[in-house]
Amino acid sequence: MRTCTKCGGIRFNLLDRCMDCRNARARTRLERMKVNGGTHSAMEWKSLLAKTPRCPGCDRPWNDVPPRPDGRYKHTWTKDHIIPVIKGGSDQIGNLRPLCYSCNFKRHTKPLAERMIKLSYVVKRGQSVGAVLASHLHEDGNFIVSLTRFEKDYIRVRNESELPTWVEKGYSVRMSNPKVKSHRSPSLISPASIVRAEA
Ligand SMILES: [Zn+2]
Ligand SMILES: [Zn+2]
Repeated sequence: MRTCTKCGGIRFNLLDRCMDCRNARARTRLERMKVNGGTHSAMEWKSLLAKTPRCPGCDRPWNDVPPRPDGRYKHTWTKDHIIPVIKGGSDQIGNLRPLCYSCNFKRHTKPLAERMIKLSYVVKRGQSVGAVLASHLHEDGNFIVSLTRFEKDYIRVRNESELPTWVEKGYSVRMSNPKVKSHRSPSLISPASIVRAEA
């Protein structure tokens, strides 16, 4: 079983992030906010948001920002602490501004939507042991996932970024060695053997 190298946790989300580490980070942040003090009401936030029709970072109206990849979040705006929580910034309305999630997360790390999870597989048997296979882009411009070995069950996936979700659901992915141009045909790799990593 795969375990987190940081905390030994075994639960991973769709983007292959350790859930336990994620929860621990959220707890630390909440404790920090308590220490920093300050509160704001829902009304204060609402009126600030009403006065801010576009993201101050990228100037896009909130509805022009693509929806967040994680469907649990309904809005594209986030509450940004002008002085960051980690630097002692309070939760008072004066220290808050709406900022789109893309701009907010860019300051620390790449926005989720721009992160790419690459799939790979290391060949364990046969002539090319050690070769690294990657998702195979077929001539028709699609990637292929399947629950069976039969071609009639092949499903074509246009966006490479969707592949991890299919793998999560138990689909195999056709993969090939990108360094070997034509002479090896792609093989169907089962989800248990596929390694997911942020590119
Ligand atoms: Zn962890
Ligand atoms: Zn923005």
